[in-house]
Amino acid sequence: MQFIDTHIHLQDYKSNDTPQILASMSVAGVNKMICVASREADWAPIAEYAAAYSGRVVPAFGVHPWHLAAAEAGWPQRLLATMQKFPRALIGECGLDYLKNPVPEPQEQVFAEHIAIAEKTGRPLLIHAVKAQNQLEKFWPRLQKVRFVLHSFAGSAELLRRAVGFGGYVSLAPTFLRRGKAAELAALIPENRLMFESDAPYQGKPVDIPQLAKQIAAFRQVDAVELAERVCHNTEEFING
Ligand SMILES: [Zn+2]
Repeated sequence: MQFIDTHIHLQDYKSNDTPQILASMSVAGVNKMICVASREADWAPIAEYAAAYSGRVVPAFGVHPWHLAAAEAGWPQRLLATMQKFPRALIGECGLDYLKNPVPEPQEQVFAEHIAIAEKTGRPLLIHAVKAQNQLEKFWPRLQKVRFVLHSFAGSAELLRRAVGFGGYVSLAPTFLRRGKAAELAALIPENRLMFESDAPYQGKPVDIPQLAKQIAAFRQVDAVELAERVCHNTEEFING
């Protein structure tokens, strides 16, 4: 079985032993990944991974809602310029986190800037959304017109229905299996909207993805091999349009 990890932060591994990390991923069948930025300082190393591992590492550039204080003036212009330089890159991660920070600004403004760049470039958004179900309501009309994923989905059934209803994808990380109602939620995701990720090095390891896929297939009462194929197909469509 082949897998694509839709959310990994290669640049945050302490060892920085990228060849070894990629080799262990290959053994698990994880042969492609989206390497996701949290802050502007990540963009250059991620661009280097994408160049060094072309075809395996797909870059994503953005500003995570936890790192807004580090975002220096002019970042939206620099993000747009970076997207124009790497036209196959994705945008992220970005989003809203009302658990970490209950104050709407500047996180809503920063999220809106990412959406504007997705609108301009036609590239997909990798969205971090925590305790943000109500606040997402005002963003759905714009999100509906771009490609987006709710990464490491940990929300309610209602949020899942809203996201999918507005054309979104839902990506599950290994930690999803430890939450309540995992089986019910996993069954609610349309088969053409499901993706997998590790969120490594934080919420799991890329080598955990095959086991995650097997468990999700069991929850959905479908064949694991067919589900894995379908999810790879979804992910290619998400990346490439
Ligand atoms: Zn992340």
